Amino acid sequence: MNILVINCGSSSLKYQLIDSESEKVLAKGLCERIGIDGSAITHQPAGGEKVTVETDMPDHTVAVKLVIEKLTDKEVGVIGSLDEIGAVGHRIVHGGEKFASSVVITDEVLKQVEDCNDLAPLHNPANLVGINSCKAVMPHVPMVGVFDTAFHQTMPKKAYMYGLPYEYYEKYKVRRYGFHGTSHDFVSKRAAEILGKDRKDLKIIVCHLGNGASVSAVKNGESVDTSMGLTPLEGLIMGTRSGDMDPAIITFVAEKEHITAEEFINICNKKSGVLGLSDGLSSDFRDLGQAADEGNVKAKEALETYCYRVAKYIGAYTAAMNGVDVIAFTAGIGENNAQVREMVGQYLGFLGVNIDPEKNKIRGEEVILSGEGDKVTVMVVPTNEELAIARETVRLLK
Ligand code: AMP
Repeated sequence: MNILVINCGSSSLKYQLIDSESEKVLAKGLCERIGIDGSAITHQPAGGEKVTVETDMPDHTVAVKLVIEKLTDKEVGVIGSLDEIGAVGHRIVHGGEKFASSVVITDEVLKQVEDCNDLAPLHNPANLVGINSCKAVMPHVPMVGVFDTAFHQTMPKKAYMYGLPYEYYEKYKVRRYGFHGTSHDFVSKRAAEILGKDRKDLKIIVCHLGNGASVSAVKNGESVDTSMGLTPLEGLIMGTRSGDMDPAIITFVAEKEHITAEEFINICNKKSGVLGLSDGLSSDFRDLGQAADEGNVKAKEALETYCYRVAKYIGAYTAAMNGVDVIAFTAGIGENNAQVREMVGQYLGFLGVNIDPEKNKIRGEEVILSGEGDKVTVMVVPTNEELAIARETVRLLK
């Protein structure tokens, strides 16, 4: 069965068509600037050239129609007709406490997802628009929703409660939810598979280090803690997000800068992280690495601060699980940036972590970085959230 995986943002729509039997990507692409001037679709059939077409996309329904047009196109298409799409798998960011696993999308589910909009006002409404647009274009194709938060719903209460008046949890569901769940689940499962072990017998720390970044503690197959919180702002220092900080900074800086708390939070989301620490140089680790090598002190310090935070979380989650068997690095930085892995590893000698510098040179591949017989296995496991969504879609429809 061919599964169309959709990841819909407020002005973008990413897609992949995956053959669920071979698990091969047949085509993928991106619609950008939906509803804005200069919208374009970039489509790439497997093994073929990327094509970019600038075309008017006033809304997401038009974007979905264009995606179908490209997928069925005589030249760049990979299927004959819409009938060859067996199901659609949608990424949904926030499932609140309602969704501890993926679901087949029904009208009732849509209402419940809408109830979570409050918790992810930037993401969930866009995800819903994507679902409704697909329903409009493909009314008879079954759809599944896969939540970023679902995998972390197994966290114990002591891990998800904040030290705040209890009523905020009761009235507004203020608690830790965690994100990147599809990736933490996929990577921890795959790590166990590579080692020929059952995930249920392992204590795994997954470091998902991309532009957004989070760490999770996966004990006996379940997420028991994770670094992102009510929103994806908490935890690690990220590309542009601050991660953990003293909440009193918000009013302190807002008063001094004559800005509102909301404006300051926007700065914490978009102008902070390594971008902020490097004094606006870049949020991209390739740029930072190069600048640091060329002697840029702030870029070097940004990388050091970033790695220190990752190492602290690994230490904390080792305590949370009373040990660790596997540390898995994933996502753009985790998979490709040897320097970050090396710098994080340097803090973890006390755990018996030993990263082989030669193996650490390998990029973007499954590789075990530690030595045979080491107490902790350190590995790189490339994530594949689209494949995970496609698998979930098939699992639910079976
Ligand atoms: P993601 O959000 O997972 O796409 O990750 C984006 C981050 O990964 C950016 O900071 C990139 O600099 C980093 N990244 C991606 N590819 C590479 C690479 N080949 N070498 C170093 N960093 C990379």
